[in-house]
Amino acid sequence: MSIKELNTWYKKNKRMLPFRESQDPYAIWVAEIMLQQTQVVTMLPYYEAFLLRFKDIQSLASVSFEEILPYVRGLGYYRRFRLMHQAAIQIQKNYHGKFPTNYKDIRGLPGIGDYTAGAIMSTAFKKPYSALDGNVMRVLTRVYMIDDDIKKPKTMKQLNQLNQSLIDINEPDIYTHAMMELGATICKPTQPNCHKCPLNDMCRSYEHQVQHLYPFKSKPQSKKHIQLMTCIITDDHNRYLIKKETQSLFEGMYLFLQIESESVTYTIEWLESLGIIVDHIKSMKKFKHVFTHQIWYMDVHHFKLKSLKSKSIDLVSFDDQKFKMMPNAHLKIYEFLK
Ligand code: SF4
Repeated sequence: MSIKELNTWYKKNKRMLPFRESQDPYAIWVAEIMLQQTQVVTMLPYYEAFLLRFKDIQSLASVSFEEILPYVRGLGYYRRFRLMHQAAIQIQKNYHGKFPTNYKDIRGLPGIGDYTAGAIMSTAFKKPYSALDGNVMRVLTRVYMIDDDIKKPKTMKQLNQLNQSLIDINEPDIYTHAMMELGATICKPTQPNCHKCPLNDMCRSYEHQVQHLYPFKSKPQSKKHIQLMTCIITDDHNRYLIKKETQSLFEGMYLFLQIESESVTYTIEWLESLGIIVDHIKSMKKFKHVFTHQIWYMDVHHFKLKSLKSKSIDLVSFDDQKFKMMPNAHLKIYEFLK
């Protein structure tokens, strides 16, 4: 691979993105976490507002997760931000608030995998570590016509080693940025702009005009369909029952109570087992929410609270700030109730 050409191309053609210009590991880390599952154009306004409010590790580690949530609401996949918050607390405690500078320590932080650790090492500390994301995998499999399934760990390991071997040790940061930029702007999933590509003279898939066949990815398993009974429970003062999630994807967020069931009778019995005695009022509306791996079909019913013995459940008025800490799947039910 003509590394010199790739790096030169990047310097001339790069998009001006704030996190690319920074060498602050904290700012780079925040960007990498926000970019997981999120497009650059969507994340940018969030990124800028986030760094204005939480300018360094200390300011992030010193607040509760509830204070962080409004700054990332809308980006989805909130578990990544919870882990980021836990990592900030660890850095504050174990490294006196200074971002660790070696791969092993960085990789050991919550929510930081091989890719993010490699990206921080190469772009913040200019060390020759591979950062293999989807863009880089696409470029490599096309240039070298690698047929293996990129979802297999063995293929990822092979690609990671290949990427590692190609890093320009004089400019590892530029190499990492350049590969990602090439994948994002030229070697796109469909209709790659090969005639403008700095690697087209060595790209085997371009030579054989089979770019569209790479990378090979086996079909994802179909999403799990989950039928839920979602309970809008109100009391005589028009307060609502919501519960803070302590486990799962939504840890730390608030949800209406719901159970995997289609039966009102079964739901009432389940609520009773939690110390919540209700009368069923009416069926309200059906909602659907699609996640990466599952689809929720939420049959929303209104119940009247008769008595509450559970202490782990909140009874709040409709304008309570806790509703702002609901995942989108339930936020749309809240919007419907307005
Ligand atoms: S020549 Fe085309 S397929 Fe090959 S790396 Fe460049 S953009 Fe991708």
